[in-house]
Amino acid sequence: MINVTRSSMPGFEEFCEEIKELWESHWLTNMGTKHKQLQAELEQYLDTPHVALYTNGHLALENVIAAFDFQKGSEVITTPFTFASTTHAIVRNGLVPVFCDVNENDYTIDVTKIEALITDKTVAIVPVHVYGNICDVETIKNIADKYSLKVIYDAAHAFGTTYKGVNVANFGDASMFSFHATKVYNTIEGGAVTFSDDSFVQLLNDLKNFGIRSPEEVAFVGGNAKMNEFQAAMGICNLRHLSTEIAKRKKVVEHYCSRLSGINGIKLCAIQDGVVSNYAYFPVVFDGYKYSRDEIFSKLGENGIIARKYFYPLVNEYDCYKDLSTAGTEKTPVAKHIADRVLTLPLYADLTEKDIDMICDIIIA
Ligand SMILES: *Cc1c(COP(=O)(O)O)cnc(C)c1O
Repeated sequence: MINVTRSSMPGFEEFCEEIKELWESHWLTNMGTKHKQLQAELEQYLDTPHVALYTNGHLALENVIAAFDFQKGSEVITTPFTFASTTHAIVRNGLVPVFCDVNENDYTIDVTKIEALITDKTVAIVPVHVYGNICDVETIKNIADKYSLKVIYDAAHAFGTTYKGVNVANFGDASMFSFHATKVYNTIEGGAVTFSDDSFVQLLNDLKNFGIRSPEEVAFVGGNAKMNEFQAAMGICNLRHLSTEIAKRKKVVEHYCSRLSGINGIKLCAIQDGVVSNYAYFPVVFDGYKYSRDEIFSKLGENGIIARKYFYPLVNEYDCYKDLSTAGTEKTPVAKHIADRVLTLPLYADLTEKDIDMICDIIIA
């Protein structure tokens, strides 16, 4: 069986060595030494002023949206071509998601359609760097500045990616990264917020640690979303191997491309200009190909190969959102078109050429 992904892991001994001192300190969570070390290493790696570490990416996104303290019922412009988390984080903060379509080149938010969706209730834009493709950050910044909106990036797919030499962690007012087991870089589960506003250090700390500021001072109604020491230890180990892992993923993607490009009805994503990619996903759009997406999905499945209809269905057709006045896939026709035709193929560092060839042979046959 070939799964759609396979978590990157350090050597067993390396991880044991990293967690050894936890048996000496008996300090397992609450911002211990591993947490502090990983935070410092990530601030350096991402070349960003501040990193706040979380137990998962979703709570990181929920917390950073909460940190802006938007008025309940305000509108947030986002896209439906994403994982459930993005919209859920908006809605669970009492805000209304307004779905913007994506563009047909890289499936990120279509910046030409944002302004028409802005009303006097709009407070923020939450764009998604889908598959590690970078949103049009310059145009988004111009629109946000013009209308005084905040920009919070869902950068769950984009860890390690740079645009024009700048790490993607530095765009917008804040960015969220996911370190879930299925992502390019993992801390088993985990996540982070990156930001430049110094006042957010205290605020995000309050939000993720019950508002506890000292043993006898609780100053804020916060929840609990701290990254623990085992997660941080995994992160410290995996960070050492990240560039090797990304280099291997690049080879996998290049081999896929050599087999699947130039075929009528098969559309691949090109690496964007100015972007150094993390090769997070390999999306293939079957548009006018001799087999439909669903046929390819079944053919692969019959051969023990698990591809993923990512993202299908669209968020704006979920049962929990379809009755919203802002929902409905007719408002986002490009996203609908892609969601009905896209498949992400298996991609992980150690996927062999032989396996890639087998997958491509099935698709082409
Ligand atoms: C994985 C993911 C998240 C949520 O991350 P978790 O760490 O699983 O909570 C959010 N948004 C997108 C686009 C994701 O792919």
